[in-house]
Amino acid sequence: MEFDDCVTIALSKGRIFKETLPLLSHAGIEPADDPETSRKLILDTNRPQVKLVIIRASDVPTYVQYGAADLGVAGKDVLLEHGGEGLYEPLDLRIAKCRLVVAGPKGGRPGKGRLRVATKYVNSARRHFAAQGRQVEIIKLYGSMELAPLVGLSDLIVDLVDTGNTLKANGLVPLEPVCDISSRLVINKASWKMKHRSIKALLAALQGAVTGAGGRDND
Ligand code: AMP
Repeated sequence: MEFDDCVTIALSKGRIFKETLPLLSHAGIEPADDPETSRKLILDTNRPQVKLVIIRASDVPTYVQYGAADLGVAGKDVLLEHGGEGLYEPLDLRIAKCRLVVAGPKGGRPGKGRLRVATKYVNSARRHFAAQGRQVEIIKLYGSMELAPLVGLSDLIVDLVDTGNTLKANGLVPLEPVCDISSRLVINKASWKMKHRSIKALLAALQGAVTGAGGRDND
């Protein structure tokens, strides 16, 4: 695959980076450094036209929205909070899968009055409870949501669950599903027009990689 344009791809470290690597490789892109060991925030690749920027997962939509990166890989959880402004979301990469759930203490008391819900995912949580006509107080946290019910900060949490081990270790159980989560390819709307050939070719290669990887789904 030839690139007519310079293309910058925003990725976050950890699971998204690891699981995006084989997809990029299918598109003929190999990073020159490993972000787990390198402190570089901009990584070169074997393609002189293609650079990777390594940023916080929740910042990926913002970089792509403003065109600081042409493309990015972001979890649906992050995109639901961001709102998707200025972005196309053309491809479900089917990686970093998990579920967004409402969870609470095992055998928890039925809530009297307005329940308090601690979460990083305030928009998704608000929408979920509003759709059920339930009035709740949302408390925004930035991490360790599982702690909130244990110390009386909230009755419930809305959090991502993969194996369920973190909930279990803290005496919590999933109570209701909110939505299934996976990582999506996002594209800056202006880049899609201005760098159409390059981005379309990359999209097609990633699409092929995802379809090829379909049989390897393990959940
Ligand atoms: P687990 O114990 O396997 O259910 O994992 C739950 C913990 O990992 C929670 O703290 C989640 O916030 C985090 N987590 C699980 N899956 C993902 C994912 N796909 N993306 C980001 N965080 C995740």
